[in-house]
Amino acid sequence: MLSLAFILPAALFFSIVFVLNITGSKVEVEQVYWAGSKANRIIFDHHAHTNYSDGEKSVEEITELVYIKGCDAFSITDHSQNPQSFSETKLNEIAAMREKYPVMLIFAGIELGMPSYEGREHVNIITTPEFERKTLVAVMSALQSSSTMRKKERDLHVLSAINLIKDSRENTIAIYNHPSRKDVNKGKNENYSDIAYWNQDIDYITAIAGAPGHQNKVQIGSYETEIIPIDRWDPIVASVGGTWDKLLAEGHKIWGAIASSDYHNDSMDYGPCEFSRIHVDAPTKDYSGLINGIKAGSFWADHGKLLRDYEFSVESEEDGVRVYPGGTINLEGSKRVLAVDISGIRSESYKTDFLRFDLITNCSNDEVSVRSTLLPPEESSVSLLLPIMDQDGACFLRSRIVRESLEDNKLSAYSNPVFVVY
Ligand SMILES: [Zn+2]
Repeated sequence: MLSLAFILPAALFFSIVFVLNITGSKVEVEQVYWAGSKANRIIFDHHAHTNYSDGEKSVEEITELVYIKGCDAFSITDHSQNPQSFSETKLNEIAAMREKYPVMLIFAGIELGMPSYEGREHVNIITTPEFERKTLVAVMSALQSSSTMRKKERDLHVLSAINLIKDSRENTIAIYNHPSRKDVNKGKNENYSDIAYWNQDIDYITAIAGAPGHQNKVQIGSYETEIIPIDRWDPIVASVGGTWDKLLAEGHKIWGAIASSDYHNDSMDYGPCEFSRIHVDAPTKDYSGLINGIKAGSFWADHGKLLRDYEFSVESEEDGVRVYPGGTINLEGSKRVLAVDISGIRSESYKTDFLRFDLITNCSNDEVSVRSTLLPPEESSVSLLLPIMDQDGACFLRSRIVRESLEDNKLSAYSNPVFVVY
């Protein structure tokens, strides 16, 4: 009765598609084969600095700190504006740390100051060790050769440099950091126009840092303009119907469940994985596995070690075919009712707290809206039946879990979206 098919597009190792057809139904799920599996979970921080740019610690000192704070993987991403940020010596130091700490994945990357903004906006380029020399050199030289180009074209020239190296793009991710930190005009929505422009033909930007680093600063995230974080997350992802939702509604596969330290020093920052954590479900516990997990959207993030586990899934009420974040469920010909499950297991420190479970979706009507459920300490999951009332033929669902308290800057966890077509 059940037929399973694996489709492996030749050029795209990461997007192995798992199609499941049940006889008599047209419900199909398209997602990576490791969706829903926690067998290879990796705790990741995508953003830390050393004294090669404006960080306080050496490569060795930051690696030691990361090890103590409990990351399984992290990336050293110094600023492209600092001439020392990228050098053979530094790559050799990182290679030595891989030998010294074989249990950790240590990525070398670069925090690009986007040329059209003269460095005001930042994108982290992170690649596997196999590609770091070639790919990062290509990106850095594109940055230099872009100086004579017209404004916005400069950014695309730099981002597309990862295509110059064979197979590099499949092994590289780009994450748009602290997206609203220096945006001055609320009405202008630079983030939307940037991402839509940069990802117009190829999805160069894999993810947006939904939560900024510098969470230990009085001005959280170092946001000092009129745009400030909402419960520690950038408004781009925290606002219901905000920029991320607008991109998702348009079908952009871009992930926002990213929370990292942006570690520079102890006065502004928690250590990597001490407060902000990305929980990546990867196909394999190695460098390319982590890159593939991020590309697929199979991850979630939290603050303050709020949760031990978080699961968000959607299934067709009729057929019981389950899809996880990053995946798409096709209900064509089936009843348009979704069964949504959100479960969040509290960490020991929060076991007596109330949690608010938010489902954020545009499947109920044209607008994006939120359904909130408050759960007492003895409960840890929410199940909802959601009829699709929207008429556009496609919609998305995402979720977050917020610790209810009277304080400002509540702790929360965010999932990536599930897409629905019908
Ligand atoms: Zn940074």
